[in-house]
Amino acid sequence: MDLEELKEVMEAAGEKSFRAKQIYEWMHGKLARDFDEMTNLSKALREKCRETYLLTVLKPVKVQESSLDGTKKFLFELPDGNTVESVWLKYKHGNSVCISSQVGCRMGCRFCASAIDGLVRPLTPSEMLEQIYAITLLTGERVSNVVVMGMGEPLDNYNNLIKFIKLLTDENGLHISQRNVTVSTCGLVPQMEKLADEGLQITLALSLHAANDEKRRQLMPVAKKYTLEEVIDACAYYFEKTGRRITFEYSLISGKNDGEKDAKELARLVGHLNCHVNLIPVNPVKERDFVSSSSEKVLAFKNKLEKYGINVTIRREMGRDIDGACGQLRRRQLHR
Ligand code: SAH
Repeated sequence: MDLEELKEVMEAAGEKSFRAKQIYEWMHGKLARDFDEMTNLSKALREKCRETYLLTVLKPVKVQESSLDGTKKFLFELPDGNTVESVWLKYKHGNSVCISSQVGCRMGCRFCASAIDGLVRPLTPSEMLEQIYAITLLTGERVSNVVVMGMGEPLDNYNNLIKFIKLLTDENGLHISQRNVTVSTCGLVPQMEKLADEGLQITLALSLHAANDEKRRQLMPVAKKYTLEEVIDACAYYFEKTGRRITFEYSLISGKNDGEKDAKELARLVGHLNCHVNLIPVNPVKERDFVSSSSEKVLAFKNKLEKYGINVTIRREMGRDIDGACGQLRRRQLHR
């Protein structure tokens, strides 16, 4: 609940409205895990809250730590028994958490493990927020960056996503800077346009993965609904409205989209935009037969893009020994 909702609840219960602010601070600022921690509330009020409301919705069921780079992967159980995963990444500039926005996903991207069984259900704002709250408490370290790049398509869960971002970046909560929040989408054009009009300062990342419609349709069913021209126009609109540089994610799949011609097409497609291209060597998923491009191929692709004047980085791979890529840990757990 946000402050307005808490105020309504308190008023309806015959409580003073300043109680709402106190509870809000316990929930979103101090990350209380139990109503009994809320010591400035009367015992009776704490009891009343406990009878009616769930304060926490996530139960950590598994934590894996990478022996390569300290990346941690968390599997959380939701109240209905479903599970979601989140990843904690430690960088020099701060700690980053990659969260899930849905259980499963209905976008069907061919290379993605989250898509294999389709969508189970979207996550509530609480279930998104608490991935960050729980990880902050479990690691004892402040989270400075949040990327919505875990399981699910965030823009397919639009209203919950917006509420989540507002709570996450609220000055009376964890107060994570909007500029440190990135939302990644497979390219749902109407929602991208709506997001541009929200007045937020978050970064939009667009999963491109191919630079022409024909190839993109083979990898991502969503490309049958929106053409690249429409998607790129929506990116340009996002930049125009927010001033935030777009990130393009491009997963390199051996023999599919990693050739010189692909690089040239990509440069032509995005070259006119204020953007940044992030190359990701595709993570092999057991159920799929995509093979990652060799490191020489990845480097050649990067050099080619740079020659065309594109800002480009290769995503540093982290947590590969702990099923780092989208949906892999949950799948393994489900199979067990
Ligand atoms: N649904 C959103 C966010 C989730 S996935 C989206 O599509 O952007 C985050 C990123 O990881 C996306 O760019 C997605 O295409 C990519 N991805 C998914 N599975 C992958 C894999 N096996 N290897 C490399 N990248 C993958």
